[in-house]
Amino acid sequence: MKINGKTAEFIRIGAAALVFLAMGLAFSGFSFCAAIWLPKLQFAPALLASAAAFSAGALFAVSVTALLTFCFGRFYCAFFCPLGILQDVIAYLSRREGKGLPNCRRIRYGIAGVAVGMVLAGWSLPFLLLDPYSNFGRIAGSFTIGGLLPLLVIAFLAVWKKRIYCTAICPVGTVLGLLARHGLFQLHLTEQCVKCGQCVKVCPSGCIDPAAGTIDNERCVRCLSCLAVFMP
Ligand code: SF4
Ligand code: SF4
Ligand code: SF4
Repeated sequence: MKINGKTAEFIRIGAAALVFLAMGLAFSGFSFCAAIWLPKLQFAPALLASAAAFSAGALFAVSVTALLTFCFGRFYCAFFCPLGILQDVIAYLSRREGKGLPNCRRIRYGIAGVAVGMVLAGWSLPFLLLDPYSNFGRIAGSFTIGGLLPLLVIAFLAVWKKRIYCTAICPVGTVLGLLARHGLFQLHLTEQCVKCGQCVKVCPSGCIDPAAGTIDNERCVRCLSCLAVFMP
């Protein structure tokens, strides 16, 4: 069976919706199968757990995500991260069209460098303030100012420029982006591109540049939305 772009996008949205629901329920205190094991697959807590004390399960989760990202790109950001999925929901509701954005490498690497450096120096608060898992937990798990503040920041950024948090701020996205940048299977524009710009409008990462004929795989979150335009 041949899967076209729209079907692929539909499958991605369905899978992301299930993860989002399960993670939301997990942070709201429900314990069922997915709510127990899904949080264990989240990259940042697994990475911190493997760094703090040897944990075979956490190391396995980090290694699998890193390997799959190196092979196929930042699919984790489209399928498994609840904060990324929340940004998609907010951006969809805002109905804003995407635009091409520059790759702010210096900002991204600087933020990740400071956050990771402070963790290594024994102060994890800056990292936890930026960590997508912790932030989603604050948003989903409490109806207090501690949950409202990150929600407002994420909502503002998502309405402003869709996944700008994922492509310029999130330290987890920066690490995964480095793996994807040098990864095995990359997305490219073909010579058939007539530079109509339709794919740019649906791209949440602003990483398609038809004029240059490129897709920036470091920032692409593999949401598959452009496939629905390329191969409807
Ligand atoms: S970049 Fe960070 S916040 Fe965005 S989807 Fe990836 S892990 Fe989540
Ligand atoms: S949708 Fe994108 S890839 Fe396709 S022709 Fe238009 S600009 Fe080129
Ligand atoms: S290039 Fe395509 S798959 Fe990558 S983020 Fe943009 S729309 Fe999604």
